Amino acid sequence: MELYSGHINRLIEELAALPGIGSKSAQRLAFHLINMPQDRVNKLAAAIVDAKANVKNCKECYTLTDKEICPVCANQKRNHGLIMVVENTRDMTAYERTGKYEGVYHVLHGAISPMLGIGPNDIKLKELMHRLEGDIEEVIIATNSSLEGETTAMYISKLIKPTGVKVTRIASGVPVGGDLEYIDEVTLLRALEGRVEL
Ligand code: ZN
Repeated sequence: MELYSGHINRLIEELAALPGIGSKSAQRLAFHLINMPQDRVNKLAAAIVDAKANVKNCKECYTLTDKEICPVCANQKRNHGLIMVVENTRDMTAYERTGKYEGVYHVLHGAISPMLGIGPNDIKLKELMHRLEGDIEEVIIATNSSLEGETTAMYISKLIKPTGVKVTRIASGVPVGGDLEYIDEVTLLRALEGRVEL
């Protein structure tokens, strides 16, 4: 016998498929949603559908944005010859929050992970190499200090070295395995300032 109605089960299943949500949380959220006023449920559903329909990758750095070119890439005051490579838009936001970085970014949308079957072709690496055909003075690799992040950093530096573009890696002031988005701004800046050439 099914414990809940089919509709509730379906909602629980969809919620449980989201990252960081276990089956207990999914049940709690499902019942919370069912008890919410209709207009709030509509607003939430519309926000999900709108975001999915309207958010795209910036044509230059591949961060998530509503525009063809994101505000950072569109800003002519930024140093477009300095590219910081990050794993995702959240990490880019973390560095933007420091307000001290003057270059632009390149968002990989992931990291190389042989364990998860994610290879160099599954992240925005070709796109990065394409950008290096322009006038680039330095690429700062700011992937996370996890195994995947380090693997990706090594791979990228080997790829870039022959082009003659300077490649640096942010300092290891960032704790091992730490996600950039959870690290405070002072630590992020220290990691950036202490970057070393690869
Ligand atoms: Zn951009």
